[in-house]
Parts: sequence; C-alpha cells; structure tokens
Amino acid sequence: VEATLALLKPDLLADARRVQAVEWEIRERHGLAVAGRAELMWTRAQATAFYAEHHGRPFQGRLVGYMASGPLIALALAGPRAIARWRAAMGATRPAVERANATASLRARFGLTDTRNSFHGSDSPDTARRELDFTYE
Ligand code: ATP
Ligand code: MG
Repeated sequence: VEATLALLKPDLLADARRVQAVEWEIRERHGLAVAGRAELMWTRAQATAFYAEHHGRPFQGRLVGYMASGPLIALALAGPRAIARWRAAMGATRPAVERANATASLRARFGLTDTRNSFHGSDSPDTARRELDFTYE
C-alpha cells in the first residue's frame, strides 16, 4: 500500500459540517484508510518550510498567510495508489477551472479561490514521505 498526506485547509475548517462530509467521502466513497489524523496550526515559518518549492513565486505570500490563518486537519491516507487517487478526488489546483470543466471534484465543490482551494495532497512518493515526516515529526 501507498501513503499520502492530505490536508484540509483553513477555509474548509470554518465549517464543521463540511469537514465531516469530506472525511466521510474519503473513507466511504474513495475507500481510503485514515491511518493518522491530527488537527494542527502552523506558524508562517512552518507554512513557508512546507511549501519551500514555491519560494519566490508571486502567490507565495498569499499561500503562506492562508495556511497560517487557522487550524488544519492532516490526514495520513493509505491504500493502493493512494497518492493518485487522493489527487483525483481533490481535482486540479484551481477551483474555478474545475467548475468550468463541470467536474464534481472536492475543489470544484468546496474550493473558494486559486489560493483558498481547501485541500492539499502529496504529489509523489518522495514528497509524501517528506510531508508525512514534516507533519507528524
Ligand atoms: P497542493 O500542493 O496544496 O496539493 P497543488 O499541488 O494542486 O496543491 P501547487 O502548484 O503545489 O498546487 O500549489 C500549492 C498551493 O499554492 C495550491 O494548492 C494553492 O493553494 C496555491 N496556489 C497554487 N497556484 C496558485 C496561483 N496561481 N494563484 C494563487 N495560489 C496558488
Ligand atoms: Mg503541490
């Protein structure tokens, strides 16, 4: 089995019913096992370190401010092809593009803006290892 890190970002946590609905879908609809769960809050320094690959990008400041703006839920998801399956469930980065494509992805349904897109998922096995270590250090 494969493991991946899913983050439910601060905009989603503003609505407890949405969080509940998403966690239900992860298990029951997508069949991913929740091997770890933590509610956490990042400092700006932690958000900057987590998204180090985006250092210097025009949206980095917005991204870091957003990720440090409130609590997050970190889920360690496990299952066959968990990385690809979780990324497919989230959909592409930009919620407006997802909606324009008439997909029913999580970002299409819950995402607010290109920055406040409600979800994160690791993009490779190496990234997943690093991000799970970072989150559960
Ligand atoms: P994540 O890494 O959070 O799973 P992703 O892999 O789909 O998302 P990345 O390109 O890694 O997207 O960008 C990381 C995060 O930065 C996005 O999830 C989003 O919150 C923000 N972001 C990405 N691109 C933009 C953009 N063009 N404008 C504003 N914010 C952006
Ligand atoms: Mg990414």
